[in-house]
Amino acid sequence: PATNIQDLHQFGEFGGVNPSITDSSTYTFLEAESMSETFLGHMEGCFLYSRHWNPSNKYLADAMATMEGTESAWITSSGMAAITCALLQLCNSGDHIITSVTTYGGTYAFLKNYLPKFNIDVSFVNISDLESVKEAIRPNTKVIYTESMTNPLLQISDIPKLKQIAKGQGITLMVDNTFTPMIISPAQLGADIVVYSMTKFINGKNDCVAGAICGSNEFIESLSNVNDGTAMLLGPVLDPLRSSNILKNLHTLHIRMKQHSSNALYLATRLQQDGIKLIYPGISNHPDHKLMNSLMNSEYGYGGILAMDFNTADEAADKMRKLQDVGAGYLAVSLGYFKTLFSNSGKSTSSEIPEDVQKEMGLTPGLVRFSIGLDNDIERTYQMFKTAILK
Ligand code: PLP
Repeated sequence: PATNIQDLHQFGEFGGVNPSITDSSTYTFLEAESMSETFLGHMEGCFLYSRHWNPSNKYLADAMATMEGTESAWITSSGMAAITCALLQLCNSGDHIITSVTTYGGTYAFLKNYLPKFNIDVSFVNISDLESVKEAIRPNTKVIYTESMTNPLLQISDIPKLKQIAKGQGITLMVDNTFTPMIISPAQLGADIVVYSMTKFINGKNDCVAGAICGSNEFIESLSNVNDGTAMLLGPVLDPLRSSNILKNLHTLHIRMKQHSSNALYLATRLQQDGIKLIYPGISNHPDHKLMNSLMNSEYGYGGILAMDFNTADEAADKMRKLQDVGAGYLAVSLGYFKTLFSNSGKSTSSEIPEDVQKEMGLTPGLVRFSIGLDNDIERTYQMFKTAILK
């Protein structure tokens, strides 16, 4: 599926090589009857109102579904909107979710602090410990939630085995693939729903926030149902201008992922030889290296994210400042940008996770997550790293 995107032929209304941008919130109908049929969801190809569907988001959704090999997809205005809408669509009051304890901090906060308001119970497990996943199942479990490559510890989820656990029990396996687009194809490995923060690698420009939900026709239709669809009713729609930009960037994703991956592997290999403590799934001493090899579409490499452990938060702060000063990248949250970005996870994107839980899951205070950029001369970047963190 990651390759199928090259067979996607979408044109603008005047034959433009890029689909036209729909600059409208509402759409005219020739007959009143067709408007009411559209409300009932019976008019394929008709657009009603842009919070429901709009043509620009439909082009991008079709491209995302093509990339994932799912029947359908839905575009949202952020990754969090994708995650929250999908979970709220799947769960009712009284239901239960099993999640990896290592997830993006915002996801953790939603599961831990927000869902209890709706009487939805959440069990946090070590997703690599499949027995603990099995043991956490209850009669009311509706979802197993994980990230293909977890943020920021870079554990790899065994999606086929998680699917075996979920199968036949009415449990939906939902996977956040934000760190590994194209590299891992969760739906092909058994995930029922794949969610993305497109803010990251997919768009790759850090100029907007966006998300996507990929899944079955039935699920995407349920999200957009005018009576009880979470996406329709909560309304996190992406602006068409933004979605048309992301669509164009999606067509260069394969090239970018290969370059992010080869740069990250180069730095990880060299810096580990220099004695830096680091986590990168492409290195043979990573606990999930073999698992990753068995799951990945190998042509795209092991991804652009790596983590280094500088022992204390103060030392991490010092190294990050030096790295920024020598020009190796920017001290900033987020990832998937053409420049290298880095931040201390415990103090930033995982700060929502209480310190005792951080400790328990192995998130050390000096852990710095790096999103390695598209640098053309990575040896030069390596020399900058050496200057900043080794000397
Ligand atoms: N999932 C992961 C793995 C992330 O790193 C992020 C980062 O913010 C999100 C989801 C949330 O996405 P967004 O910021 O686009 O809402």
